[in-house]
Amino acid sequence: MVTQATQVRRYKHLIGGEWVDASSGETIPRNNPATGEMVAEYAAGTLEDTRKAVKAARAAFDTGTWSRMPGTERGALLYKLAQRMREEEADLVRIEVEEVGKTIRFARGDIEGSIGIFEYAAGLASQVHGEAYTNLGDSYNATVVREPVGVAGLIIPWNFPSLILAQKLPFALAAGCTAVVKPSEFTSGTALEIGRMARESGIPDGVVNVVTGKGSATGQVLSESPDVDMIHFTGSTATGRKVMEGAASNVKKLSLELGGKAANIVFADADLDDALDGVLFGSYFNQGECCVAGTRLLVEDSVADEFVGWLVERSRSLKVGDPMDEATDIGALIHRDHAEKVLGYVKGGKEQGASLLTGGERLSGPDHDGGTFVAPTVFDRVGREMTLFRDEIFGPVLSVTRFRTMEEAIELANDTEYGLANSLWTKDLDKAMIVSRGLRAGRIWVNTTIDGGPQLPAGGFKASGFGREMGAAGLEEFTEIKSVLYHLGKREPTFGTGV
Ligand code: NDP
Repeated sequence: MVTQATQVRRYKHLIGGEWVDASSGETIPRNNPATGEMVAEYAAGTLEDTRKAVKAARAAFDTGTWSRMPGTERGALLYKLAQRMREEEADLVRIEVEEVGKTIRFARGDIEGSIGIFEYAAGLASQVHGEAYTNLGDSYNATVVREPVGVAGLIIPWNFPSLILAQKLPFALAAGCTAVVKPSEFTSGTALEIGRMARESGIPDGVVNVVTGKGSATGQVLSESPDVDMIHFTGSTATGRKVMEGAASNVKKLSLELGGKAANIVFADADLDDALDGVLFGSYFNQGECCVAGTRLLVEDSVADEFVGWLVERSRSLKVGDPMDEATDIGALIHRDHAEKVLGYVKGGKEQGASLLTGGERLSGPDHDGGTFVAPTVFDRVGREMTLFRDEIFGPVLSVTRFRTMEEAIELANDTEYGLANSLWTKDLDKAMIVSRGLRAGRIWVNTTIDGGPQLPAGGFKASGFGREMGAAGLEEFTEIKSVLYHLGKREPTFGTGV
């Protein structure tokens, strides 16, 4: 049996410090993907609602109550918000489990990680600073300063609703921006709760606004709005392109974290136990609904048969089912259509000649009825031309491709339109350095995977987007650079000096 939810949470938009219904009066229900039962209801945002939220953020920015507040004070309020989240951690965890279908163990990791990122970003608020140039000659002094971009539109996907919010919102706020957050229509709960906590922590009204609803009616409006100065988006590359088109309206600043197709490269000289655990985690963490999931296993030929054998055995032993059960490894996929899409890739893989070793089906029975559970799936003999190797599947589907040389491993890993992340497993230091240098991706993990801390910037190469989140770079994303040149003393006239 899958654990049932306790109550249906009914939410409104958070605009200018007030809870408001959608102007249409319409709502969007959210059903728990593990049980099918309704767990939440959000306001179905309209163009009018989104404009209202932008207006509130614009007014809050232009008055300067937040953007010109001393950085230490902004940091203190952000830190207070992080502590508030800590007090309500258990509720945030439950919302993520019920709305996303992710397992409680990993949901807890997400919320704890999110709180840590808020705390880190709070510290950055007092670090925003510029440079002074005193070497421009006797008549000049110059400063190069960083100022907040202005109103930031933050568009969040459904796979990590709080974690991806945490990678954007506190950095925007630390820089002095105000924000309109647009969470996914499937998973808006934690963004709304964190918006509420921001108010309760003393962050002024209008600084954090949350507008819910379908991306076409809200996210698109944010992208096109002339009153939004920047869009920070995470989601699919297809939607990222639409955001770019919308942003052309007022040539707004953009940061896009898009799709991925990460490789997990296992060399024969690796600690193969570690590598096995890493490959399993890298491909099945969050049901594989993870932009940095290492779903392409590239394994050195000499150990491939043995390694793949272990992989299949371990994949079969994983517990798929009730996300509220502490022992569960893999929860439910986000919704039925997405599960169908993932199974479509399985079908395509078989048709294209890849060898299905385990999984590949939707699970049913007393532990799975009503939910969108897909068994962990391993395909062997996957060629680089196959869809399994090329498309972002966003499900628990791992493909295995063998290589013979280090050069071939690098070339295979880079043979994708994406460039978000890669992992490699070897005990040879030279190899680790050469391979990590050769990989075209924003994040490389050596002898670990999907790991790190808020100090480390994340983002993509190639069609995985541009811009960075987290780290000092994540804060700088939300700033504009301004050069101020001061002329000292009387200026030499430019005109009227000829004979
Ligand atoms: P989307 O890219 O559509 O969703 C991401 C966010 O963008 C959501 O908040 C969505 O809103 C919003 N959005 C949708 N349309 C627009 C628009 N025209 N303008 C602005 N914002 C918009 O992802 P999907 O949910 O459709 O997932 C499809 C695929 O994308 C997945 O299978 C996966 O491959 C990939 N993906 C990648 C992610 C990543 O982390 N890189 C995260 C999520 C998905 P709403 O959901 O409310 O419609």
